[in-house]
Amino acid sequence: MGGVSAIDRLVDGFPHGTPDGYEQGCRGRICPAEDQSCQQAQIRFASDYQYRRQVLAERAQRTTRNPGPRLRRRQLWAAEHDEQLRELNARGWSDNRISKQLGFSSSNVSRRRDEMGLPANFTGRPRKERTS
Ligand SMILES: [Zn+2]
Repeated sequence: MGGVSAIDRLVDGFPHGTPDGYEQGCRGRICPAEDQSCQQAQIRFASDYQYRRQVLAERAQRTTRNPGPRLRRRQLWAAEHDEQLRELNARGWSDNRISKQLGFSSSNVSRRRDEMGLPANFTGRPRKERTS
């Protein structure tokens, strides 16, 4: 009674055999990991400096590969971006340059600029008014 059975932890993607597995609830003797149980990994993590470094490096790598929702939320186009786009476009900035400034893809910026009815700047240099 009480607690999660070992079988319930046998789901794909659970980091068995690592300190992460231990932290996420696999703390018993029964662990499906092949080399070491989560519990053993946790003990090793706390006492073995080399292993600790390796685990931390792998965690950092995972974080780099999956930016996560926080980073993606920042990519949403907001009203402030409209303002900046309008201003930079008026200065003659190209879509490409504006996209780097705002942190969006240039196709994003181009589409939005079209929607706002602003002209495209191709050189990135200030527009010169010409009368023909
Ligand atoms: Zn485990």
